[in-house]
Amino acid sequence: MKTVYLDNNATTRVAPEVVEATLPYLQEFYGNPSSMHTFGGQVGAKIREARQQVASLLGADPEEIIFTSCGTESDNTAILSALRTQPGKKRVITSRVEHPAVKALCERLGKEGISVIEISVDKEGNLDLDEYRKNLTPDTAIVSLMWANNETGVIFPIEEAASLAKERGIYVHTDAVQAVGKIPINMKENAIDMLSLSGHKLHAPKGIGVLYVRKGTPFSPFLIGGHQEKGRRGGTENTPYIVALGKATELAASNLQTENTRVRNLRDKLENALIQSVPNSRINGNRTNRLPNTTNISFEFIEGEGILLLMDEFGICASSGSACTSGSLQPSHVLRAMGVPFTMAHGSVRFSLSVYNTEEEIDFVIEKLPPIIARLRELSPYWKEGQAGGVCTTASGNAG
Ligand code: PLP
Repeated sequence: MKTVYLDNNATTRVAPEVVEATLPYLQEFYGNPSSMHTFGGQVGAKIREARQQVASLLGADPEEIIFTSCGTESDNTAILSALRTQPGKKRVITSRVEHPAVKALCERLGKEGISVIEISVDKEGNLDLDEYRKNLTPDTAIVSLMWANNETGVIFPIEEAASLAKERGIYVHTDAVQAVGKIPINMKENAIDMLSLSGHKLHAPKGIGVLYVRKGTPFSPFLIGGHQEKGRRGGTENTPYIVALGKATELAASNLQTENTRVRNLRDKLENALIQSVPNSRINGNRTNRLPNTTNISFEFIEGEGILLLMDEFGICASSGSACTSGSLQPSHVLRAMGVPFTMAHGSVRFSLSVYNTEEEIDFVIEKLPPIIARLRELSPYWKEGQAGGVCTTASGNAG
């Protein structure tokens, strides 16, 4: 059975060009980049090249790039660094829709005496900028806001948010794990101090990430050890994956145009067809201000998990909520924060495309999914009650 992979916000296929670039650094060039000998030195040179490749995708200087093990490490490092370098400031501003890499850390910090402010979003997932502005107090150590949401694709006005914080002398971090490679980013044109990205969201392997730290930003390392990464992240460099990430960022730069034309058109075709053919369905999130590859669609009165299982029989891969939160039958915190009615939130599915998807694949999903929804609704007591007007469709206590 052919796999139709529409779960690229969970992880992506490693690009063949990336595999090719990586293999020599697994097989032949295994020296330690810190060694004095030429054998190790050539590996060090390749890391410098990769650092340059990542920097050019971000419009950054190579010295501003720190290689980490993943997006989660980058997010944790940024927030903890801001708190450590400003011990007098005990407040963090974030949003209600962050990925667990930020949200769970902030919950822990809250228990340790840090005041954590989660800014609300409206029903389209847009950041409440007024609430944000009012919360920018001088005791704030850092603002950490995602650039684009992993579940809905909604893009936050992060550059405006960063300028507002900078005017008040507050440092800003952005979790750009979903944004990098999908929308243009130029760190020369904004006031953001730190930015996280993750290799496996842009066709590099899992287990490699970057924390961008603007020159002059006070910094305290998370991993303390050797002098690697100019003392900002101890641990022998993961050379093959750093090379992989370098190549993947180079490819991402050349695919940016395709993401915003062909991939966007395929996404639009998919969501328009599904919304038109399936009654009681809706798109979650601001439709204009959104990543080009993502759509989050709710099919009312059924469970997203049921939809995923039946799609799986046809080889179609997608997510309900985010892969990290699946396993719990609670609707996702993102949809709850947006006030999506609980009968809709439970039946939400996220489709996330990549440059490898084809029109035939999208046509296949458009053909297979409506009968799946109809079949599940036949079995759903809520659907029958809902049709008879018996189910409350507004957010309940259960939906938070
Ligand atoms: N931030 C966002 C927005 C994500 O979507 C993810 C992964 O799903 C992460 C952070 C974590 O990245 P990693 O899996 O590399 O730790």
